[in-house]
Amino acid sequence: MKSSLNILNRFFGYESFKPPQDEIIDTLVSGKNALVLMPTGSGKSLCYQIPSIAREGCGIVISPLIALMQNQVELLRANGVKAKFLNSSLEEKDALAIEQQLLVGELDLLYLAPERLIKPKTLSLLKKIKISLFAIDEAHCVSQWGHDFRQDYLELEILAQEFPRVPRIALTATADERTRKEIALRLGLTNARCFLESFDRPNIRYQISLKDNYRNQLIRFLRDDHLNHSGIVYCLSRNKTEQVSEWLTSEGFNALPYHAGMPVRQRSANQSRFLNEEAIIIVATIAFGMGIDKPNVRFVAHLDLPKTIESYYQETGRAGRDGEPADAWMVYGLQDVTKLRLMVTSSEAPPDIKRVEQLKLNALLGFCEITTCRRKSLLAYFSEEASDECQNCDNCLYPVDTFDGTEVAQKALSTVYKTGENFGSTHLVDVLLGKETQKVFSFNHHLLTVYGIGKELTPDQWKSVFRQLSARGYLKPNDEYGSLRLDRGACRPILKGIETIKLRRDIREKTAKQLTKTKLPDYIDIGLWENLREKRRQLAEAQGVPPYVVFHDKTLQAMATVLPQHLKDFSSLPGVGDRKLEKYGSEFLSVIRGESPKISPN
Ligand code: ADP
Ligand code: ZN
Repeated sequence: MKSSLNILNRFFGYESFKPPQDEIIDTLVSGKNALVLMPTGSGKSLCYQIPSIAREGCGIVISPLIALMQNQVELLRANGVKAKFLNSSLEEKDALAIEQQLLVGELDLLYLAPERLIKPKTLSLLKKIKISLFAIDEAHCVSQWGHDFRQDYLELEILAQEFPRVPRIALTATADERTRKEIALRLGLTNARCFLESFDRPNIRYQISLKDNYRNQLIRFLRDDHLNHSGIVYCLSRNKTEQVSEWLTSEGFNALPYHAGMPVRQRSANQSRFLNEEAIIIVATIAFGMGIDKPNVRFVAHLDLPKTIESYYQETGRAGRDGEPADAWMVYGLQDVTKLRLMVTSSEAPPDIKRVEQLKLNALLGFCEITTCRRKSLLAYFSEEASDECQNCDNCLYPVDTFDGTEVAQKALSTVYKTGENFGSTHLVDVLLGKETQKVFSFNHHLLTVYGIGKELTPDQWKSVFRQLSARGYLKPNDEYGSLRLDRGACRPILKGIETIKLRRDIREKTAKQLTKTKLPDYIDIGLWENLREKRRQLAEAQGVPPYVVFHDKTLQAMATVLPQHLKDFSSLPGVGDRKLEKYGSEFLSVIRGESPKISPN
């Protein structure tokens, strides 16, 4: 058996393990089970890939998405690992050939979709071969409490029964305590060794602001911080993804839409441009994302609210997998809150599921409204305690001003009540300010005691009060047109003056200019950097793979810093294993030496 460290050096080109990778690998190599809960970008894949290579037999990896499998297999093969996948995208004869390879023991790793694994035919095939381990990736899909539930994952229970001697590892990057317990229970891992790492993504900067004119806000964010960066912009509707992408294009960005309603061809073309080219902005619905392993996504921008904190964490988690600074940026407004609340209340889901959805939505809105460190609150949601303020979120960087909002809240709530709980915030604000509109007169609202009692705030400030009261659940939508009603139970203590409420004083613009992201270190020669990138692009294009399959940015940065002159020095760069040394070493060395860049014939 080869040593794990040796495999790490020779195949993956890394010097040492990132703890607890080594412990997880030892656990599996010695035949025991493991449950792994670690954030995106922490190096989970190696935890099952290395034991699969080290142990006798083939490692079977269960993965929910075709795109995810293809990507992983591509990366592995680029490092000289014998990996294949079996899924519905293959032609019959190719699938047969792979099954043959499996039978004669030629593979180190095989990726499978769960629905394929549980077929009797596949199970009997697997019974005939030596299996080194089972790895269940995205294991939270087994949980009904989680947000990506997949029926097929439930059937993975049979692995424990049918293959009791094969070690199992389940991995996920999103799991609150309840999901964790469910994974362990359903996959027979209650006695497995559990590796629970911090879910913090310190390189991601969280920023949530009020929606004002989202197009201008987005453009400013992109121009200030993300020119020539790759990123994802999330929208709720298909229409909006197309409009926003068209508009970004007209503003000079390379933007492409992505949603489930597009022709499959165009959709996958856009996805592959995002993966293969640099500085592409994909404007997408949440249909886009799972299985996107692009390491250098510099920002994720939300133009609409996600449904839960888990989704927010997962979607924003696609930024900065390479560990370099990245932004999670979001804008939201009262309309978004109302729309989401309505979606939950009017859904066809059974009552107990609806109740869970309601709780999760409240948690998300609470998260948007908090005035303290966002990272702390996010981690607390995943039952993790952070010791200090992070200094890398909007609330830490630009502390929020709060004020005792009890009196204005009372005025706002009374106005909702006195007008019969039939109006939206625009009209309610008019009433509070004593405006003489036609609507005011036709409903005789100028005769109410609340008419004109709110002149201490501007219309925008009142809007903010209504939004905050809605986000915190004091106000609920009454219909799909935005009219509001009171949540009696929640409002009573405020109206009676038993409870006080702190509101945030919203500022329209964050005046402080943000730090510029991902600037190259000063000592790197920009000309050389560009030449290295160009070489990488050519090599990637010639093989039809994304640039990061050739080398990550980190490896290029190391080249430009260390300036290796010989293959021996080159081999010690991070991310350079035996295969890549042989394949690309001399090509990049000649770029570093300043010789004219050439394209390799293969
Ligand atoms: P996850 O699956 O947890 O999101 P990945 O397995 O994709 O994370 O790994 C994230 C990045 O870290 C990858 O680019 C990977 O090559 C790199 N990586 C993993 N292990 C190590 C290591 N021991 N040393 C250096 N880089 C590593
Ligand atoms: Zn913070």
